Amino acid sequence: MKKETGKRHIAILGSTGSIGTQALDIIRRHPERFEVELLSANRNAELLAAQAREFDVNHVVICDESRYEALQDALRDTDCKVFAGTESLCDLVAAQEVDIVIGAMVGFSGLRPTLAALEAGKIVALANKETLVAAGALVTKCAAEHDAPILPVDSEHSAIFQCLMGAAGNKVERLHLTASGGPFLGWPREQIAVATASQALKHPNWDMGAKVTIDSSTMMNKGFEVIEARWLFDMPPERINVVVHPDSIVHSMVEFCDGALLAQLGCPDMRQPIGFALGFPERLETGGRKLDLAALGTLHFEKPDTERFPCLALAYEAIRRGGNLPCALNAANEVAVKAFLEGRIGFYDIPRLCESVLNGVDFAADPSLDGIFETDAQARRLAAQSIR
Ligand code: MG
Repeated sequence: MKKETGKRHIAILGSTGSIGTQALDIIRRHPERFEVELLSANRNAELLAAQAREFDVNHVVICDESRYEALQDALRDTDCKVFAGTESLCDLVAAQEVDIVIGAMVGFSGLRPTLAALEAGKIVALANKETLVAAGALVTKCAAEHDAPILPVDSEHSAIFQCLMGAAGNKVERLHLTASGGPFLGWPREQIAVATASQALKHPNWDMGAKVTIDSSTMMNKGFEVIEARWLFDMPPERINVVVHPDSIVHSMVEFCDGALLAQLGCPDMRQPIGFALGFPERLETGGRKLDLAALGTLHFEKPDTERFPCLALAYEAIRRGGNLPCALNAANEVAVKAFLEGRIGFYDIPRLCESVLNGVDFAADPSLDGIFETDAQARRLAAQSIR
């Protein structure tokens, strides 16, 4: 592999998704800073091949092995080496040539490659929140043991991370995560109950992948972000507050003992947090719009309604009870969201399924990695049974 000095060598896990393509947008603007070593995708071989050509990438991995030949054919006349499967991905992220790994896979599938990157001491820019939801204790322990920094890419956690740079060693009393409230914020419960997937996919402010957009509509996304914040910032859940902020301008806040709040503001554009993680500690020009506060005029805040959005309360319950329950919640939610997207269940079946799995799964207070995988499998079985 080639290695030019002075450049950051990047691996993107999930390069064809929303976060992956936006990360490549930023890298495209700063060719003097970055070299793309490795790209991986789940099954979009066409886009992955096009990205590999454009960025002259050394290695690509397609996780869905049935797409291997298509990818191999598409890159036959290049020097790019083509691999398939998660095991290959875990080996390649650990390679010496990789400096930063952008974890942008969707769901539980990101856990193994993220751990492989951390074990190899890589800087991990983490967008894949499900990894921390399912195995936050193991992932943060692994990062600490291998001196591998986790830089948040989720906009709220990036905001908190940026605010903490102004803490100057002072203890943080509370974290305030802002939530847009999603497309159903003002809707009555009866109307939400019959909402379709296409309605749920219309997020008012953020342009994101399908899984996280559905999670935003149920507010499970915000619940997962509470769990993510618990692990990233070592903050107990009772000191993590969620406030609905439909404008999506204040990306989150930290509160100190004197009542001061530090906030990070900006237009809702994922390129800001992605760019911040890629360039850290330097800020990069990302091509995003600049905020015009006078044009905006007003910012709005309100309390979340857990009657209409019970997933938020379920996530708090899972992290309070702890152990393997957040993992079970994540697995149940992945199954439920898939079924909802396919039109097989209704909107409120998502929290109903998740709650029944939380109550039905075998509890483990301090699960090993194998235990996490067992919980994930059991929770998926229980969720699938409950759909039938
Ligand atoms: Mg977020």
